[in-house]
Amino acid sequence: MPAVFLGHGNPMNALRSNAFTEGWRRLGQNITRPEAILAISAHWYIPGTAVSGSSAPETIHDFGGFPQELYQVNYPAPGSPELARKVQKLLFPLDVHFDEQRGLDHGTWSVLCHVFPAADIPVVQLSIDETKSPEFHYETGQRLQSLRDEGVLIVGSGNIVHNLHAYAWGNETVQPFDWTVRFETEVRKKLQEGNDRQLVDYKLLGNDARLSVPTPDHYLPLLYILGLRRKDEQVSFPVEGIEGGSLSMLSVRIG
Ligand code: ZN
Repeated sequence: MPAVFLGHGNPMNALRSNAFTEGWRRLGQNITRPEAILAISAHWYIPGTAVSGSSAPETIHDFGGFPQELYQVNYPAPGSPELARKVQKLLFPLDVHFDEQRGLDHGTWSVLCHVFPAADIPVVQLSIDETKSPEFHYETGQRLQSLRDEGVLIVGSGNIVHNLHAYAWGNETVQPFDWTVRFETEVRKKLQEGNDRQLVDYKLLGNDARLSVPTPDHYLPLLYILGLRRKDEQVSFPVEGIEGGSLSMLSVRIG
């Protein structure tokens, strides 16, 4: 199985048809049908590592101020308590909480509803522990490696550049900020070079990194995908674009 990072952006993409959603749809068609999906979303950013253990996870509408239509979106994919248990075992001795209540957040469903619109592939979420270092997230990704050989598609969902203070709400086609373009270009270059170290130590990339990654939540899912990359494995960018000046929609496919 490949491993993918998806730039999810505005939750309204769930209802839209645009270059991003078409890119996600194509991506889904270009991947052999997975047995299950393990999603690491920016929107499950908590003090601890947990897996969603429900066999029927609900669709969580974890946002405010959007049109009513968006609150009615349902992504009824089943869960997979078996996969959740397997993730717990793989990450042992790390204490991974088995959360039977947790549903799917919009970082997961707003993209998966395009990638796999039939919603018939089981989805498990893995939380991002907000107390841990970027290195920890990279290494956790590495430890999930064997799942790729078992037909599990690992999906990181965030945004490489995510600055909502600078984001032009309602004017999404505005010219991108120069720092948005520079940081995204830099990340893309390092991905192609296989320069994992500098991507993990992104804070050392200076002012562009500070503006592009004001909080780590949307960047960290990329480090899990990076950790899953095997030697000499190909990297490609199935979806590209910058929205609202400060939101990179870049997707990254490994393998
Ligand atoms: Zn988000």
